[in-house]
Amino acid sequence: MQNYMTHKGCLMKFLQCALDDAHPQPCGRCANCRGKGLPSSVSSELVVAAENYRKGASIPIAPRQMLPAGIFPDQKRKIPPELLNETGRSLCYYGDAGWGTLVRASKYEQNYFSDDLVDAAARLIGEWKPEPFPVWMTAIPSLRHPTLVRSFVERLSTRLGIPFRPVLVRISDALQQKAMQNSSMQARNVLNTLGILGDIPNAPVLLVDDILDSG
Ligand SMILES: [Zn+2]
Repeated sequence: MQNYMTHKGCLMKFLQCALDDAHPQPCGRCANCRGKGLPSSVSSELVVAAENYRKGASIPIAPRQMLPAGIFPDQKRKIPPELLNETGRSLCYYGDAGWGTLVRASKYEQNYFSDDLVDAAARLIGEWKPEPFPVWMTAIPSLRHPTLVRSFVERLSTRLGIPFRPVLVRISDALQQKAMQNSSMQARNVLNTLGILGDIPNAPVLLVDDILDSG
């Protein structure tokens, strides 16, 4: 989109090339062909409206249906229905113009997710109304950033009145998931690195993490 905005030639031809059209042609009608060019600035009202639109649009997380190849060789790869997660939600795409920029700065600069993000997540869950509604919540622990997600979930838990139970623990460190080349490598990377502490309540749970990689 940024290249489109600064493109000097025909904008239709630009799109045709982007979509692999074998015979892209200048259109003679677009803003550049007519010599007007695209606007170089937009009103701040429009910027705010666009940001609010992005901030209000949560992103569904489809549950993983299949185990990665070769992880449990003597087991079917299709995950049985009773073990499937429900569809989840993400607040934003990493670095996007909604909450994504704040998430990135919070994680890598402040090492703290602000109360604005707690409010946004609480609002998301209120509007989403997951079925069944979570009775407790827990978080994916991290050895690299032990307080980052934990502090976020503790505040979110208080905010929503849903108890937080830290039942998951890291028993050994994993490499970062983003360094893995495919989902089989990601699955092997985390296999046996998580342990369970205490009793797991037999009730719907909301599992919270800061970034979705392998799912
Ligand atoms: Zn054109």
